[in-house]
Amino acid sequence: MTPGSRRIAEVYDQVIGRNPGETEFHQAVSEVFDSLHRVLAKHPEYVDASILERICEPERQIIFRVPWTDDTGTVHINRGFRVQYNSALGPYKGGLRFHPTVLLGTVKFLGFEQVFKNALTGLPIGGGKGGSDFDPKGRSEGEIMRFCQSFMTEAYRHIGDRVDVPAGDIGVGRREIGFLFGQYKRITNRYESGALTGKGITWGGSLVRTEATGYGTVYFTEHMLHTRGRSLDGATVLVSGSGNVALYAIEKVHQLGGTVVGASDSGGSVYDPDGIDVDLLREIKEVQRERISSYAEQRGSAEYIPNRQVWAVAEKTSVDVALPCATQNELDEDGAKLLTKAGVAAVAEGANMPTTPEAIRLLREADVLFGPGKAANAGGVATSALEMQQNATRDSWTFDHTEQRLEEIMESIHARCAATAEEYGTAGDYVSGANIAGFIQVADAMIAQGVI
Ligand code: GLU
Repeated sequence: MTPGSRRIAEVYDQVIGRNPGETEFHQAVSEVFDSLHRVLAKHPEYVDASILERICEPERQIIFRVPWTDDTGTVHINRGFRVQYNSALGPYKGGLRFHPTVLLGTVKFLGFEQVFKNALTGLPIGGGKGGSDFDPKGRSEGEIMRFCQSFMTEAYRHIGDRVDVPAGDIGVGRREIGFLFGQYKRITNRYESGALTGKGITWGGSLVRTEATGYGTVYFTEHMLHTRGRSLDGATVLVSGSGNVALYAIEKVHQLGGTVVGASDSGGSVYDPDGIDVDLLREIKEVQRERISSYAEQRGSAEYIPNRQVWAVAEKTSVDVALPCATQNELDEDGAKLLTKAGVAAVAEGANMPTTPEAIRLLREADVLFGPGKAANAGGVATSALEMQQNATRDSWTFDHTEQRLEEIMESIHARCAATAEEYGTAGDYVSGANIAGFIQVADAMIAQGVI
């Protein structure tokens, strides 16, 4: 065993020991560490500077009480988090997730991933993440607003355009960012546009930010397919989820000539051989705020498959591409088996860590192209960084210009992952390419900035 590999094992044990029960965080660290053996053999300076130990320990973790009153006058207490993970490359940057399952370990896994993802964008942003175990489902507009205001009444002291810049994630969209921004502005008495991203277009937001994560994932997929002389044109595609990332992934697949025949929510899936009508699905999810079963009721060509994930659609049709765009660990070994049996050629993660390690192994063994989230879904945060750029110069760019920047960024992330994988003897493995390229960039900056 090389000294680097020994250190990987030791630090991983420390991570488990110091962060008990945080299994998703362990999984995220393990996936990055698995990619680093050859890097540490080539660069012993990273071992000497204790980069592994330092990179796993967030710079700061903030946990706070979020009290709020519902429409009946009942007081609720939620827990708020902001994990400021790594600022080697720029201010902490990453979304807020509002979901009842959110624990500190969830935010830490997301923050850890974000550090490398943000590095891959090539833009000056560090990594952070936050959120709350608040469940927005079924809550009125007034309740959501009061919750957001209470969250920001604490969070404002920790954020700022040169400090930490939150954005959306699951359960946090433009509406929530609006309420958060309003409270930040009121408390600080500053119109500091760059303190949050994902804002509305008329008040400092960027065009393409809403579409960026889904669009970017599809661009990344197209680049992967091109390496094998294939493309999305004419491809049959499954997309899990029906939130913001999924909706815009579906839209872009259709623009590029593919057909998305399956989508889902936590209650079940729909199979629509004619292709998902994305306008109808958006209307159902974002305006009617209904379940995906309503889609099948309103669309003649669609069939509802209750209590099954979208991978079940692979029992009914051949599949060229699968895009998990819902949540972590949603594509497991069983799902991967269904997909490989249906002939899948590429899987790209629109969500963060949606594929389990066993499923990734299985897909790799079947020679399926696999785009990990920290590369494939980096278009969202990259466009957030473009929003910060527009805010800093008090400018606003056109849709076409911003989309072109997004396309260039995704192309460069793909090229960088491919080149890095090749350099380290794992050609075609985007997981190691992304992990190594992101790690080296952050590690070099950390070494340059001394032991802090
Ligand atoms: N939550 C998104 C992500 O996982 C976006 C973060 C941002 O725009 O800051 O990358």
